Parts: sequence; C-alpha cells; structure tokens
Amino acid sequence: MATLREVISCTSDYDPDALPVAKANEVIRSFVNPVSGVEKLRVRAALGRVLAKDIVSPINVPSHDNSAMDGYAVRNDDLRAGELVVTLTEIGTALAGREFTGEVKRGECVRVMTGAVMPRNTDTVIIQEAVDVDGKRVSIPPGQEPGQNRRLAGEDLQKGRPALKAGALLRPAEIGLIASLGIGEVSVRRKLKVAFFSTGDELVSIGKKLKPGEVYDSNRYTLWGMLTRLGCEVIDLGVVRDDPKRLEEAFCRAAASADAVVTSGGVSVGEADFTREMMAKLGEVVFWKIAMRPGRPMAFGRVRARRKSAYLFGLPGNPVAVMVTFYYFVRGALLTMMGRNDTDLPLLRARAETAMRKKPGRTEYQRGILELKNGEWSVRLTGAQGSGILRSMSEANCFVVLGHDQGLVKAGDYVEVMVMDGLV
Ligand code: AMP
Ligand code: MG
Repeated sequence: MATLREVISCTSDYDPDALPVAKANEVIRSFVNPVSGVEKLRVRAALGRVLAKDIVSPINVPSHDNSAMDGYAVRNDDLRAGELVVTLTEIGTALAGREFTGEVKRGECVRVMTGAVMPRNTDTVIIQEAVDVDGKRVSIPPGQEPGQNRRLAGEDLQKGRPALKAGALLRPAEIGLIASLGIGEVSVRRKLKVAFFSTGDELVSIGKKLKPGEVYDSNRYTLWGMLTRLGCEVIDLGVVRDDPKRLEEAFCRAAASADAVVTSGGVSVGEADFTREMMAKLGEVVFWKIAMRPGRPMAFGRVRARRKSAYLFGLPGNPVAVMVTFYYFVRGALLTMMGRNDTDLPLLRARAETAMRKKPGRTEYQRGILELKNGEWSVRLTGAQGSGILRSMSEANCFVVLGHDQGLVKAGDYVEVMVMDGLV
C-alpha cells in the first residue's frame, strides 16, 4: 500500500497552502482503497449496497419471443405488400402465462395479449385497434411492418452476458433486474464503518442550556445524516474537548473500530498546530489549505491503533464548510472505499438571475435555488453565504459551483450547478 508521502510526490504542483480542489481529490482517490469484505444477502436486503461481483445472466429475459401489445399474432408471409386488406381466421387465444400450443397455418391468426408467448410460426402482431373483426374473421389493413410489436427473447438481458457489473449501486431498478433473472441472493461489499466526532470546547450537546459563548453541536447531526444516507455503519464518538490527550483517545478508538473517521473542527491554523504533533504520532496526516470556499482548512491521512488503521478526514468546524467538504471530498472517497465504480455527479448549466461575487484562484460552492423560468433553468443565491450560516444549506436545492479560474459572475451569465437531490 502506498504511503501518503508517495502519493503526494506523484502529484504535480503540490502546495499544501493553496491546494486546488481537483488536486486534493487526486491525492485522496489514489490513497484510499475499497474494503475487501463481502457478504451474501437476500435481494431485498441488498437495496442501497454495492455489488461485489458481476452478475452473469443465467437466462434470457424475456425467455421467449412475446407480444408487446394486445392484438393478433400473424405470419408475416400472409401480409401482402400493397394496398390490400388481408382477412385471416382466428383459431385461438394466447394470454400472458397461457400459451397457445397449436400451430398457425397460412391464413390463420391468434388473438394475443401483452406478454403472451408468440404462437408457433407467427412473427408479427397487429394491434387490436387496427383490425376489423367479424366473428372469427379478422381483417388487417395494409402497411404493417414485419416483426412489429414483438419482443425478442433476450432483448432485455442475454444469457451468459453480464447483467450487472461489480461496483454497481443496487437501486430499485437493479433489485428488480436481479429478480427478473430469478436470482434470490447477491454478493455485496460489507458496509463501511465510519466513526465521527466533533471537537471544540465551546460545544454543548442538545438538552443542555447554553452559557455565553457556547453553541450546540450541530455538525455531529449533519455528519450523522450524510453518513447514514450514504449507507455507512456509523459510530458516534460524541464531542471531544480541545485537549490533545482526549483527541488521541478518540482517534485511537476510531482507528481500532472503523474504516474511516470524520471529524469537525480543530484544523484551522492555530488549532492545527495543537493536533499536528499528536497526529504525527498516530499516523500520516497532511494539513491542507484548500483553494476553496467554504472549507479551506482540512486534514487528510490515516491514523493507526492496535494494528488497525482508519482513513482520517479532518473537516473544518464551520457548519456549511463541514457539509461542502463532505460532499466534495469525503463522499467520493467513502464511495470508492465501498467499492462503487461510479462516484461523479452531474453538473447542469443554469442562468444566473443576479450577479455573484467570485475571486479567481479558488473554487466556490455557493448555495442556490434552482428554478425553471420561461423554459430555462435559472439560479439565485439563498442569501448570506457565510460558512457558519447553515440556513443557506437548508434553503438551497443546489450548489452553484464556481470554478477555480472563474471571476465575477454577471446577471444572465451561465453558471454550473449541482443539484442536491441525489447528493444524500
Ligand atoms: P473550528 O474549525 O474548530 O475553528 O470551528 C470554526 C467554527 O465552527 C467556530 O465558530 C465553531 O464554534 C464552529 N463549530 C465547530 N464545531 C461545531 C459543531 N460541532 N457544531 C456547530 N458549530 C461548530
Ligand atoms: Mg474548534
């Protein structure tokens, strides 16, 4: 396994005092590895988990050619080209799950319902709305396409081919797809264990009265929420005082029990000095000033205890900075550790309703409200953008992502936004 120092030495223009977001992610992604544990689960229990092995289709889905519509199954060689109506004799019915077992000779047709197996010798379905029926006589207008309204065996999933790839997130569609193959159990990666705690002498847990200068510990709640929705098994280590001894104990507990530890606070310049020494003792950790807003200070690395280790994400303390750094660094890293093969989220383009202040040389994640106006996506900011104003996250439905080199945004300019739905 590469050391953090080795990974960093491969990163060009590495400057821990002004690290662009993309560089930080490059270091993080090449340092973390997927967990190796695998477990077998019943298909419903696997919802939200990550597939550990490819699923090869044991059957064709559908298993037989069948009708895509309610209508009449006919032989294409009975349909004449040109303007003529063709009249056939109906000789029976096929339903979904109830086959027509006879043979269809020239001049004959079979009434079929959606999903019915195509009767022998037929290859084309005429929808019921198109025909004239008189007793058993079925008249078909010209202009039918050979093979129309027929679903082919294996057109959804082909026997012997991978139906799902390892690393796929099992969403409702995948759960259904696995069931469509008749498979009842799947191999998934084990759940990621993530410990988290807040640091700060000013923090008070809910249920207590605030004294002057104190604040309620909200980060442990947003972190709990984000980690839970990401599908992690969470280990809440509470509030840890700004005391090297207490911090060391917390990191040791985390390293012994979890795959990763996420902390908030205690990484800003003055405080970092205080934890730096202790971190050096426990593992390899770098302290970064990232060229971003919010979320500038951050620590990243690995801590060890009792021959076990956990990846460390030391996030800043400000409530909005915690969420932004979680979404833009921790989320992707944890998904990689979970074995996911797709971690990127799409950016959309939207028109800025108002001007937005922005300095080149850092990436900004402003909180926005995206709305469809006159057929076009339009975005405005949620108001005050201070990194302590959690209301800006609650009111927002998107991040306005203003790239490293971007300067001031004028009203009417196009900007990139990341929709928060789907971001957990
Ligand atoms: P720090 O990064 O520790 O210097 O904290 C920066 C700011 O975030 C300070 O105003 C802290 O009071 C605040 N803060 C730190 N941790 C938390 C927390 N767990 N909940 C709410 N606010 C916090
Ligand atoms: Mg603090």
